[in-house]
Amino acid sequence: MATGDYYDTLGVPRTADEKEIQKAYRNLARKYHPDVCKDPGAEEKFKSINEAYSVLSDAQKRAQYDNMGHETYTNASKGSYTGASGFGGGGFSSDFSGFGDIFDFFGGGQRRSGPRSGDDVLMRMQISLEEAVAGTDKEIDVLHSEACPTCAGSGSETKKTNVCPRCGGSGQMRQTTQSVFGQFVRMTPCTMCGGRGKIPEKQCRSCHGSGHTRVKRKISIHIPAGVDSGMRLRMEGYGEAGDYGAPNGDLYIEMYVLPNKRFERMGDNLETTVEITPALAVLGTTVDVETIDKRHIEVKIPSGIQYNTALRIAGEGVKRRGKPGDLLVRVKIVTPKGVSGEQKELYEKIAELEGHGNKGGGIFSGLMGKKKGKK
Ligand SMILES: [Zn+2]
Ligand SMILES: [Zn+2]
Repeated sequence: MATGDYYDTLGVPRTADEKEIQKAYRNLARKYHPDVCKDPGAEEKFKSINEAYSVLSDAQKRAQYDNMGHETYTNASKGSYTGASGFGGGGFSSDFSGFGDIFDFFGGGQRRSGPRSGDDVLMRMQISLEEAVAGTDKEIDVLHSEACPTCAGSGSETKKTNVCPRCGGSGQMRQTTQSVFGQFVRMTPCTMCGGRGKIPEKQCRSCHGSGHTRVKRKISIHIPAGVDSGMRLRMEGYGEAGDYGAPNGDLYIEMYVLPNKRFERMGDNLETTVEITPALAVLGTTVDVETIDKRHIEVKIPSGIQYNTALRIAGEGVKRRGKPGDLLVRVKIVTPKGVSGEQKELYEKIAELEGHGNKGGGIFSGLMGKKKGKK
């Protein structure tokens, strides 16, 4: 992917608000839409614009992007076919949510003539919170189409193709209809070559001329630290095969991070709880906290800690490069249910010292402590 910073791509300042971003996107998308702009590189530019917009128009993705920086956000995922080579690594990116919008604008997403790019493929994947926090490598099975090995994707046994005699290679046919309003010319895909403009010299027997075969591949992917549910990894070129000479589609892997028993995620922070007794809350103590990657950290709980206070352990949250999140240890004070006779005596003593003199007399007048003066 040839891209610079997403803000530069859209030509907006980093402080731009939603409206500015949308406006810049619409202007650029109109200018570079492949149906409109015939400059070389327009398609690539259009893709970049959509990619930038899909991130910057989504508050959550934008925050992640701002945090991670362009390099990490776009290059964190590198994939490869297991036991095969010749494919470039994919980029970690988001889907082009802007496309529908543009195609509506341009009236229904017309097919351009010439060889068609392959379709994108979307897969969903579940990962544990541990994997999302630290990043991981996975192998996945992908069923997609690839260029037919017999004909090298040409659809022709001789690997040669001829210009389609019906459409003259344009892949399109003019359909002229007369009506009371005058003559209408409509372009439709050529029925002989299916819009390709070429027909195989000798139809390949393996793929019946399509040039594609369906195969199941093992793909190893790197899932970068910090992914969250709904994020999509893009593996460039791992989607469906394009027509002969056209690029493949991309593979998108949508993440679903499973909930964890001990840790809750909030953005880049993790939260866990520890339970202590009222006595330890009063006196202060040290507790052992297991981090998400199973290390143990001693956390000092200060004397007089209040219920539900969160103690912060810096850098033990989501392990993102640049700025890792924190671990919040929330302290719950648990009242013991069954206490020994001796403990009970001591609690009674404490209550007495607090001025609640409830021993024997059943006088609960002081139970709530001294009434505070009204402010
Ligand atoms: Zn073939
Ligand atoms: Zn044709």
